[in-house]
Amino acid sequence: MKEKLLSEFSKRFQSEAVLYASAGRINLIGEHTDYNGGFVFPGAIDKCIMAAIGQNGTDKVRVYSIDIDDYAEFGLEEADAPSAQWARYIFGVCRETIKRGGVVKGFDAVFAGNVPLGAGLSSSAALESCFAFAMNDMFNDNKIDKFELARIGQSTEHNYCGVNCGIMDQFASVFGKKDCLMRLDCRSMEFEYFPFNPQGYTLVLVDSKVKHELVDSPYNKRRESCERVAKTLGVETLRDADMAMLDAAKDKVSEEDYNRAKYVIEEKDRVLAVCDALKRGDYDTVGECMYATHRGMSELYEVSCEELDFLNDIARKCGVTGSRIMGGGFGGCTINLVKNELHDEFIATAKKEFAAKYGHEPMVYDVIISDGAHKC
Ligand code: ADP
Ligand code: MG
Repeated sequence: MKEKLLSEFSKRFQSEAVLYASAGRINLIGEHTDYNGGFVFPGAIDKCIMAAIGQNGTDKVRVYSIDIDDYAEFGLEEADAPSAQWARYIFGVCRETIKRGGVVKGFDAVFAGNVPLGAGLSSSAALESCFAFAMNDMFNDNKIDKFELARIGQSTEHNYCGVNCGIMDQFASVFGKKDCLMRLDCRSMEFEYFPFNPQGYTLVLVDSKVKHELVDSPYNKRRESCERVAKTLGVETLRDADMAMLDAAKDKVSEEDYNRAKYVIEEKDRVLAVCDALKRGDYDTVGECMYATHRGMSELYEVSCEELDFLNDIARKCGVTGSRIMGGGFGGCTINLVKNELHDEFIATAKKEFAAKYGHEPMVYDVIISDGAHKC
């Protein structure tokens, strides 16, 4: 990819280019915990966006996207927003950097990537983090701290792309480290690296390619349930609740709210259990927790769907160590911790059985936990 970027860059632009990259991410466990002040457990992966970037001495940005085969040129004022969606990510990063007092000057760039788009691996965070890191390195002597780089990406999604996301994706893309997952405390924003290099296992993403558009905004409803229960229990968020407290208040909350809160409380504890298990190298426990998360998301939080439950069942039938929905739910992919000797058979079975039932094969990606944003 490096050669392709540099040769395309020199074909189009006169300046000297530097290469930057940032990664997509997985989240091993910790789903719907972020807005409850709990933990998430992401890591950057070996699929990235890479850009060749050079200053051009003007006040204009000129960018070519190799994958989309599209070119955009824009200024750095608010009124200069480009219309192409892919370019808005880059424009947003520039604007959010400037809004925070950072410096951005004109530059030329060529970029490409291999993070599958819209598969739940956060290609958009990879794109934002790549350019945020580059702006910091090229124009700001790396004075902007890494959390701020993640927030620049997050604000880009909010303010320029209409996506009201949390911080996890950009955090993982910026802070990612080879063979390490990161437990992020979404209340304090403190985080810790945990070694994750499971010898004999592969992490496999199985993308169902289905996305159920639901009418009654289930995401907001889940949040409301959590807030209601927290209020009943007299805590700020469900992070501060445990099962004893919830059970003591069982007759004060609806059955549905009880189930939602039970999932969130158990999920918070599962993230901690997985971290402990990783310290012992106990991947069987990691896997059991992943299955338990899937069950909780399906039966208590009710954010699964038929296709994802089907993929989870296939994983179990094939003897896969751990499997669960990754992401918010209602479609997208499962993340699977698979013993290497079962890998090929699991993938073949998942593709065949899913296609027989739903008419199309899922997409499958093996991922390795890798470095986040960096200069190449
Ligand atoms: P994801 O879940 O992968 O983040 P999004 O819809 O949030 O999905 O972001 C995908 C968008 O990010 C694409 O529509 C495109 O605008 C931009 N993008 C991601 N990867 C690339 C790429 N390799 N080249 C150009 N644009 C990209
Ligand atoms: Mg995205």
